[in-house]
Amino acid sequence: MKRIAVLTSGGDAPGMNACIRAIVLTAEHFNVSVIGFRHGYYGLLNSEHVEISTDMVSNIIQNGGTILHSARCPEFKTEKAALKAANSLDALGIDALLVIGGDGSFHGAHHLQQYWHKPVIGLPGTIDNDIYGTDATIGYFTAIETALDAIDKIRDTADAFERVFLIEVMGRHAGFIGLSASISSGADQVLLPEINNDNEAAFKNLVARIETTREKKGQCSYIVVVAENLWPGGVTALAEKINSELSIESRPVVLGHIQRGGSPSPQDRILATKLGAYAVECALQGKSGIMVGEQNQQLVEVSLPHTWQNQKPLDPYLVKIQTEFFDILE
Ligand code: ADP
Repeated sequence: MKRIAVLTSGGDAPGMNACIRAIVLTAEHFNVSVIGFRHGYYGLLNSEHVEISTDMVSNIIQNGGTILHSARCPEFKTEKAALKAANSLDALGIDALLVIGGDGSFHGAHHLQQYWHKPVIGLPGTIDNDIYGTDATIGYFTAIETALDAIDKIRDTADAFERVFLIEVMGRHAGFIGLSASISSGADQVLLPEINNDNEAAFKNLVARIETTREKKGQCSYIVVVAENLWPGGVTALAEKINSELSIESRPVVLGHIQRGGSPSPQDRILATKLGAYAVECALQGKSGIMVGEQNQQLVEVSLPHTWQNQKPLDPYLVKIQTEFFDILE
């Protein structure tokens, strides 16, 4: 094996640069050169590539974002695009492709693998942590810290004015960031897709808890962490409903894209480095159609379809603490 390629695709996540660095340094160790495609699958289809030297990856471990940039490329779903990508990879003499991204990017890797019969390996890079087969994804730990930092600050002002705040966090259709951020911030309540599948019931419960808390403590702040995509119209619509139907004033805050940025935490840098190095080793061994991940501190390989066919559960004990032990209505 002489030459491998890497791309970052879909939602960016802190630690993608650390992962690219580990891939390049490990490949160098095995005398393999690395080509990077810019802008994800779009760059693969449009010959946007660059040889990544070890110099290019010095001093990037601490940087958020991705030096290769990321993009979405809907046309990659077609057979024509996959064939074009396979031809480009062959023309460039690429022996393996490493894809750092989330669930969608893994679908893309699997799709390409049907038309290009050399190693294609996925590395889980998404703040959402919604990938089955790895305990954590690259970027998740940093996103929790960012959300936590913001919630702590909102709590200061919420306390000063004894207000109800509804804070929307990212996670796509999963509640990992929501649960971790709510437990670590000591939020009063959390609304997550895995727990709250009936919006009317969730609304009634939310109101009952706020009212009970205020009966016990008097006017006080109340922090609710809400996963994105849970409430139609998000926390702005939820706050409007509360404000119009009850004598409770609430404020919505959407944390948004700040959760995708920032310098990666040590845990993300370490995970990214391990998975980057391991992906190169797997490619050298000719493994293909897998995601590299980590489970209980063991490096693992999971077939790409398994990563999206199975649903990764939230930590059940954290759910129990938040919804049973800390439930003031019980
Ligand atoms: P993420 O990787 O963060 O989940 P997306 O869902 O946006 O991000 O997917 C990133 C890219 O992966 C898409 O823009 C597209 O190029 C590719 N992709 C997604 N789904 C498929 C699919 N079913 N077949 C082929 N490529 C796909």
